[in-house]
Amino acid sequence: TIMAEDVLPCVKILVIGNGSVGKSSMIRRFCKGAYNENYKKTIGVEYLEKEVEIDGYGDVRLMLWDTAGQEEFDEITREYYKDTDAVVLAFSTDDRPSFETVKSWCSKIKTICADVSMVLVQNKIDLIQQAAVSSQEAEALARDLRMRLFRVSVKESLNVEEVFTYLAQKQLEKE
Ligand code: GDP
Repeated sequence: TIMAEDVLPCVKILVIGNGSVGKSSMIRRFCKGAYNENYKKTIGVEYLEKEVEIDGYGDVRLMLWDTAGQEEFDEITREYYKDTDAVVLAFSTDDRPSFETVKSWCSKIKTICADVSMVLVQNKIDLIQQAAVSSQEAEALARDLRMRLFRVSVKESLNVEEVFTYLAQKQLEKE
């Protein structure tokens, strides 16, 4: 019923990282089960939601936000970064600069969203042949930033669900 839906706990999750690392693909894969190599995103903020069942807690509504080409932290960005419960910080296996920007993404997020759960996602692990980041480097960075590392391929539907359910679980444990 509508009543039952209204009382679902909601978790607001932001997916951040450099352009083209696969942020909107990841959200679409998780919420719609779809993957499209040539998808053209709209300008602005992308938003999708999905209900999932979390062990020990029941149904939860995940609200997923993607910066959609708006990688700069302007006032608008700040506005919707508020009230964020959890953050997915993504970089891409074949994109060195996206990996090297992770630390600055991390500190920026911490200035806006205090006390947020964050995970590090290495996307496009299917592109191992073109890897610009070694697994040791990725692990070292995750250790450094005290973040859990998930190796993901949105394309091959590998580990996507795990990322979001992990963050939902973390958030529910906090409340
Ligand atoms: P965003 O700018 O971070 O939102 O990135 P997009 O979701 O638009 O993805 C950028 C490009 O990377 C698109 O062409 C996607 O199809 C592609 N892509 C996303 N995830 C993967 C993946 O896991 N593997 C590969 N090979 N390509 C991916």
